[in-house]
Amino acid sequence: MTVDLVVLGAGPGGYVAALRAAQLGMRVACVEKEDRLGGTCLRVGCIPSKALLDSTELLVQIREDAAHHGLHVGEVAVDLAALMGRKEQVVQSLTRGVEALFRKRNVAWVRGFGRLVRPNVVRVETADGPVEVEARYVLLAPGSVPAALPQVPVDGERIVDSTGALALPKVPRRLVVIGGGYIGLELGSVWRRLGAEVVVLEAMPTILPQMDAEVVRAAERIFRRQGLDIRTGVRVAGAEPQGEGVCVHLEDGTSLDADVVLVAVGRRANTDGMGFDEVGLKRERGFLVVDEHYRTGVAEVYAIGDAIGGKMLAHKAEEEGIAAVERMAGKGGHVNYRAIPGVVYTWPEIATVGLTEEEARARGPVRVGRFPFAANGRARALGATDGFVKVIADATTDRLLGVHILGPRASDLIAEAALALEFDATAEDLARAVHAHPTLPETLKEAALDAEGRVLHL
Ligand code: FAD
Ligand code: NAD
Repeated sequence: MTVDLVVLGAGPGGYVAALRAAQLGMRVACVEKEDRLGGTCLRVGCIPSKALLDSTELLVQIREDAAHHGLHVGEVAVDLAALMGRKEQVVQSLTRGVEALFRKRNVAWVRGFGRLVRPNVVRVETADGPVEVEARYVLLAPGSVPAALPQVPVDGERIVDSTGALALPKVPRRLVVIGGGYIGLELGSVWRRLGAEVVVLEAMPTILPQMDAEVVRAAERIFRRQGLDIRTGVRVAGAEPQGEGVCVHLEDGTSLDADVVLVAVGRRANTDGMGFDEVGLKRERGFLVVDEHYRTGVAEVYAIGDAIGGKMLAHKAEEEGIAAVERMAGKGGHVNYRAIPGVVYTWPEIATVGLTEEEARARGPVRVGRFPFAANGRARALGATDGFVKVIADATTDRLLGVHILGPRASDLIAEAALALEFDATAEDLARAVHAHPTLPETLKEAALDAEGRVLHL
């Protein structure tokens, strides 16, 4: 088969790049080994985790919040199999949707494990035997896999990674999560809401060590209130089966019993065994090395997404895929790394874009504005008053440097902040923009007003 572009991997990076390339008039083939398109994100990442988070959030609303609204609901029964079935349907509808998009845009899905045999040829082991796809351009988007903790090997039953934790057959009495990052907090919250005792063991002095410290401190207090037993500065020495469960040994000599252990200590690039070294591609700590236009330096081979490192986020992979194929097509594709939002989908959610206060202060004088959800009319009406918005602006130019939100629907609210950063807006721009009342985004306006020293509703 000969095409203009062959994409290796149909995750959010690869499949979106394939669609954009087809839109630009290229003949495109996309190689994917799994039986569903959409990659980690759609199959075992963003989408199934959000389906479980949304279902269990609803459970908490019915069980705990409804009564505050004067709504008294009887005993709520959880049908775990049905809840998992719904998650599966959500995943299936979206992965099939990508298949439909491929058909519509004439992107050929070459199903099987792909390997680079020459800089412009991917050899795919399909069910019908090997197929060689030759292309002018190659885009590598093989993504990432869970990082292992050698002293706690995953067995898929009692010791699981995120994929296992998305599909436990029953609610564990006690779940020990190793790693207080995105996955530990999201999936820890899911199983906590379903009734498990959840202990989160984090090696660093704080959970979410990369995020704004003030926001993380406030979030940690709320998560503890919700029953997450967060233990920081803890190192795990090993784990061994014990009875029906697992005994987790800590480096301080103590141990913990668990029914299930979730290892969530990060992800690593999936770049082994695909012929990359053989054709001369450079890798550092497993990540493919690329220039600012995603070129590997070998012929017309480009690479994007989790496999090149940086933030391992679906939307970052998508934007890189689009930029890379636009470059191939002679256009000016570009990703603004200063304005990539990140969201932890707990309740309340944590959403962030741009620099943390610590990073911003290290660069020069800043003005910081804050506004609590407790002072926002809509948050009060919703009964969701935990958290606050924090706006960080350059003290000299007033340019926005970062926005951090802990609060209801922070995932949606951060879009306005990302747009503001994309347009290089000032805190005053945000403060003067008209926001509908009563809405949650008014908290952003007020936090920006606070940065200007003229907050109104506090
Ligand atoms: P991937 O999605 O990993 O896709 C790579 C694809 O390449 C895979 O389908 C793989 O099968 C295929 N492949 C690899 N090698 C070969 C080969 N040799 N031949 C054929 N096919 C191959 N990010 C967010 O932004 N928001 C979230 O809410 C979010 N939630 C997450 C929840 C969990 C539990 C996890 C694990 C991750 C989550 N992420 C989230 C991260 C997100 O999933 C990744 O950043 C994103 O999927 C990366 O996209 P990618 O295209 O680079 O790689
Ligand atoms: P992470 O990097 O978010 O968190 C890992 C945590 O484990 C860190 O806090 C780290 O300090 C800690 N840690 C590392 N080694 C440890 C050890 N030996 N003992 C105890 N703690 C240890 O990684 P993750 O939660 O595994 O998720 C992987 C990646 O997937 C994320 O970084 C993110 O890019 C992506 N993801 C994103 C979302 C989202 O966007 N909502 C959700 C899930 C995953």
